Amino acid sequence: MASVYGNKPETKLYETSKTRRNEVVNHVLLGTRLDVLDETSKAYRVDSRGLGRSGWVKKSDVRNTPVLKMFFVDVGQGDGAIIESPEGIILLDGGPTSKYYHFLLHRYKRILQEEGKVNIKAIIMSHPDWDHFNGLTPVLNDKRFHIGNIYHNGIIRYDKRPPGRNSEIGTVEERVINGKTKKILTETFSTLDDAQALINEGFLMTTFSGFWEAAITAKSEGRLNGAKCITVHDKMLPGYTDTDNTELKIDVLGPITVGGPTDDLEYLGFPDAEDIAKENPSLSESHTINGHSLILKFRYGKHSMLLGGDLNIPSELNLLEYYGDENPFRVDVAKSCHHGSSDYLVDYLKQVKPQVNVVSSGDNKSYDHPMSDAVGASCRHTRGSHPLFFSTEIARAVSGRTVHYGLINLRSNGKVLAMAQMKEQHNRKDVWDSYTVPWRGKFNHEIREYRKNKEHD
Ligand SMILES: [Zn+2]
Repeated sequence: MASVYGNKPETKLYETSKTRRNEVVNHVLLGTRLDVLDETSKAYRVDSRGLGRSGWVKKSDVRNTPVLKMFFVDVGQGDGAIIESPEGIILLDGGPTSKYYHFLLHRYKRILQEEGKVNIKAIIMSHPDWDHFNGLTPVLNDKRFHIGNIYHNGIIRYDKRPPGRNSEIGTVEERVINGKTKKILTETFSTLDDAQALINEGFLMTTFSGFWEAAITAKSEGRLNGAKCITVHDKMLPGYTDTDNTELKIDVLGPITVGGPTDDLEYLGFPDAEDIAKENPSLSESHTINGHSLILKFRYGKHSMLLGGDLNIPSELNLLEYYGDENPFRVDVAKSCHHGSSDYLVDYLKQVKPQVNVVSSGDNKSYDHPMSDAVGASCRHTRGSHPLFFSTEIARAVSGRTVHYGLINLRSNGKVLAMAQMKEQHNRKDVWDSYTVPWRGKFNHEIREYRKNKEHD
C-alpha cells in the first residue's frame, strides 16, 4: 500500500473525492502519514491511521516523502523528546519512569507488528539526571530496539562520594585560570568500556549503573554500536554533519570543556546561582551536571530548534562568555531549560529569542516547574506579537480519574513550520489544536477585514 504525507499545516480530509469546502471531515497535521486506498485524478482516498476520521485528500495537499517531526512527550517531571526525520529516529532524553518507553511502544506499534523491530539512529542523554535518562533504560532492555549510538556528556553519577574522590561526581581539582581559582571536574568517561570499568568499581548511582548495564547488554546482543561523549569540539552530531547526506543537521553548541579538542575531557565546576559573585564559591554538583548538558541545535530547511537540557545561570554566563559576539543560539523553537526553573539568565533568553517555547515538566515534585517568572520571561523574549508557549502539563487532560498525557507536536517540511497539541476534548472530526509559525493570531484575518470595512464606512 502506498503512503503519502500531509503537506499543509492543517491537511484537510473530505467526505467525497469532490473535496468541497463544506465536506471537511477531519484535518491532519503536516507530515501525517496517510495510507492510500483509492484515487481519482485529483484526490486520494486515505486511511488516517486512527487519528480521527478517514476520507479524501487533495493530491495537491500531500507529498510523497516524510517531514521532520519532533514530539515532546509528557513524561511528568523530566524531559523526553523524539525526533523523526527522513533519516530515522533519535531519542533525546527519556525520563524518569517507563511512561516514555510506553509511548514509544504505542507510537511504533505498527512498525513492531510489521517488522518486529524498531531502528533508532541515536539515543542522546543530555546529562545524567534520572529525570532525563531513566525512561531510556527499558528501551535499551527491549530486544526489539536496535540502536546506533548513545551520545552523552561524559559526567559520572556516583551514589555518594566514592573512595579516593572529593565530590559525588568524581575528582575535582582546584586550578588557577586567568588569576582566578577554579574548580575543575577531571574525572569523566566516554565509551562502553569506560562504563564497564565504572560499573566494576561498584560505586555508581543505581539508576545510572542500570542504564549503562542495559547499554552493555544491548551491545553484546548486537543491538547497539557504542557510546561516545560529545562536546562543543565535535561541532556536529556524528551522522548529522554538513558532510552527511541528511536533511536534518545537528550542531553541538555545548557542553564547553576546559581545554581544546585534543585535551583531556575536563569541565568547569559550577557553583549554585546564589554563589556566582563569591570569590571562590564551593562546587555545586547539580549545577555542574546540569550546566554541562548537551546543547543541540537542529536545522531542517529554513527552520531551527534548540534543546539544551537543564542549563542554569552559571552555565549560561559561561556560554555567553565562550561565544562572545557570536550568537549561535537564535532559533525558531526552543525547549525551555530545566523544565522552566527560575535559574535562567535573561541575556541568554534574549540570544535564543525563539518564536515558540516548549516546557516539559510535571506536577508531583517540590520544584513547582514551570515557575511563573520563567514562563513570563521566556514569553517576553520571544519573536512576534503572538508568541506560542507550549507545556506538557498544559497539554495534559484530566477528566475524573482518567489522565491523558500531554504531547507537543512540531512539524516542518523545511518551508512550513507547525506546532500542535491534541485538543483536551476531541472528536473524530476535530483532533488537533494547531498553529502555523510564525503565528499571526487566530483572528488576524477577521481583524483585517474589520479594519478594511471601517475604511469604507
Ligand atoms: Zn531535569
